[in-house]
Amino acid sequence: MIIPVSISIVMALPEGGEEKKYWRKPLDFHKHKVPIGKVIIIAERCKACNYCIEFCPKEILVESDERNKKGYKIPKVVEGKEKECIVCLHCEDICPEFGIYIEEIEEEEDDET
Ligand code: SF4
Ligand code: SF4
Repeated sequence: MIIPVSISIVMALPEGGEEKKYWRKPLDFHKHKVPIGKVIIIAERCKACNYCIEFCPKEILVESDERNKKGYKIPKVVEGKEKECIVCLHCEDICPEFGIYIEEIEEEEDDET
């Protein structure tokens, strides 16, 4: 017989009730450059599931008014966030239709735009 067990994790707050932050910058942070990606959507493959929009950690994608031939609204990059893609490639991994991919922008190209 299997007995269901529920586990609850309680986050203890320090005195005063303020949430403690554990985030820190790595010591060699200055040695690393965060890449910049250009988002490319293959409109005809998109089925508007919006996974790429929901799960982009930088929240740079939104649904557009543009529709493909099948009538699905395809995603687009939020205006002003064109250089915020960090090439994590999560959208590529998560898209069930292989309808989105990222091209890393070279530094020179980045300077021109
Ligand atoms: S590569 Fe990462 S940051 Fe760039 S659009 Fe895809 S999920 Fe967002
Ligand atoms: S995950 Fe793929 S199919 Fe879904 S909205 Fe994004 S590009 Fe379209």
